[in-house]
Amino acid sequence: MMNRITFDGIKEKSFKSISKHINENIKKNNSKFNILIEKFNYDKNPNGGLLENVPITIKDNIFYKNHIASCASNILKNYRAPYSAYVVEKLLGEGAFIVGRTNMDEFAMGSSTEYSIYGPTKNPIDPKFVAGGSSGGAAASIITGIASIALGSDTGGSIRQPAAFCGAVGYKPTYGVFSRRGLVAFSSSLDQIGIIGNNVGDIAKSAAVMNGKDPHDLSSYLDRELKHLAEYDFDSYEGERKIIGVIHDFSDTPISKEIENSYKKLISELNKMNYEVVSIFPPFLEYSLPLYHILANAEAASNLSRYDGLKYGLSNNEGNYFERVKKARTEGFGREVKRRILAGTLITSEGYDIDLYKKAQKLRVLLKKNYDVLFSTVNFVLMPTTPTSPFKLGEKINDPIAMYNNDAFTTIANIIGSCAISLPLGTTSGGLPIGFQLMAAPKEDAELLKFSYKLMKDLG
Ligand code: GLN
Repeated sequence: MMNRITFDGIKEKSFKSISKHINENIKKNNSKFNILIEKFNYDKNPNGGLLENVPITIKDNIFYKNHIASCASNILKNYRAPYSAYVVEKLLGEGAFIVGRTNMDEFAMGSSTEYSIYGPTKNPIDPKFVAGGSSGGAAASIITGIASIALGSDTGGSIRQPAAFCGAVGYKPTYGVFSRRGLVAFSSSLDQIGIIGNNVGDIAKSAAVMNGKDPHDLSSYLDRELKHLAEYDFDSYEGERKIIGVIHDFSDTPISKEIENSYKKLISELNKMNYEVVSIFPPFLEYSLPLYHILANAEAASNLSRYDGLKYGLSNNEGNYFERVKKARTEGFGREVKRRILAGTLITSEGYDIDLYKKAQKLRVLLKKNYDVLFSTVNFVLMPTTPTSPFKLGEKINDPIAMYNNDAFTTIANIIGSCAISLPLGTTSGGLPIGFQLMAAPKEDAELLKFSYKLMKDLG
């Protein structure tokens, strides 16, 4: 639909015709759905290579040298990136070009792209509904044919959830597969850059290019298994004997009837096709969301303390140091960001005697161990990406808890640092997309991508 741009489609076209196609789609869709915050002046990338002529959008929290990266926040409204993100350099090095920067929830905190100073991104399938978030602009840029690959970030679901809501594929790699250099930090131990695309093959090829050990990000590593995907023939993959763990009991993590029915239907199709499906109870899944908020808020409060209006952020010269900082933050940050900074500051305060942060760290280790055990018995866990289908614009904007509940199935992958992908494998009765998430153990990205490709071929 809507003239999407796949890698296969690009092969037969010239740069000129691709850019014409993009410009037409921008004209048709951008003001209607509020996808791109800024379109760049781009030209053919002379490098050539594996991604020649591939159009890319970048989320507004990813650096592209000399271009604004505002995180959809007033506090960084005019901030220009002093260098390009490692992954952006890699993509440009293989002939891709960057169309523009996409809308997002401020500092990537949100699940609907409604917390943006630029206004909400609307769901291109039906503009009464949200596009998901925080990478809502990224997902919308794919399905409206503005880009072939959209870079976003995923701290607790921000790639997978908007991909699910818009009907795209969204991949969050294992922590460390992509360097975080040039991604504005939200919660450093959970943040990963991820990819939204039209299909698994395009994503895998881009991931092979983006992956690498960046000397400036010590948590990054080179994954040789991923590298070979650049030229891999996905149709030759068999992977029949893989075991998929599925959930049968949603009493601890409630989901809507519609999602439940669609999930059951998917499982019965898998059974019919002789996939190996076993019933599991993902350990501590019901604790993952509160745990996520403790970890993410604590780290966010620390990371965002650099926006003081002096070195970073809205500068002003009114009054003494404290007055200046206060003014910059009061005017610079939106409500949701303030809420999280306050919560994170409380959690990490000295003398805060219930020691939530320390307990959260311990629980995180326990969860990791439990999922290591689970992944020694199954290859993949299949879950709904979201507990509900896309909701209406404005519906959850004043109800933070309802907004957070969207992430019931996505934060676990960030907590244990594993890889996960949302696949568009369902539709609501109203025609809105439903995504299902396949999760694998850390460093099993190549298997996850190959198996997802096969699933999409068999079921999509
Ligand atoms: N929706 C989640 C949140 O609000 C996750 C955001 C993200 O992954 N950046 O924190």
